[in-house]
Amino acid sequence: MSYSISTLCNGCGACAKMCPVQAISGEKKEMHLICASLCIECGSCGRICPESAVLDDKGKTVARMKKADWPKPVINTDCCSACENCVAVCPTNALAMADERLPLTRNHAVLAKPGKCVSCGWCKENCLFDAITMRGAA
Ligand code: SF4
Ligand code: SF4
Repeated sequence: MSYSISTLCNGCGACAKMCPVQAISGEKKEMHLICASLCIECGSCGRICPESAVLDDKGKTVARMKKADWPKPVINTDCCSACENCVAVCPTNALAMADERLPLTRNHAVLAKPGKCVSCGWCKENCLFDAITMRGAA
């Protein structure tokens, strides 16, 4: 089951603009809809929705959060094996390797484009070496 949008939606379109996989559609000022087969459950639509109209896969309202407080991946370079799993799964291409010219033992992932990160946590979930933690601004 994917995320969904409740009748609290006023059709502002903030969620559709935020969705990294274009899973949300709807006319301005009309209720929006999340396509279940496209949704990757990143939660960014819920965090941005001014009406708290987005429900998670268990039907619970996703809490709004100031964009500046959204958690971002912090990479422990000592644990990173440079496998590039996180880079491959990131839906917004926010991650990259520090320097492709470095040997694997010295290379590591970096959050190259923090502004593109939607705080989905996929990088953390897919790191086999527990090298990533998600941390908020505070
Ligand atoms: S952000 Fe919220 S209110 Fe705005 S269109 Fe999306 S679900 Fe509706
Ligand atoms: S949390 Fe990780 S996978 Fe998700 S958008 Fe940010 S960098 Fe990419």
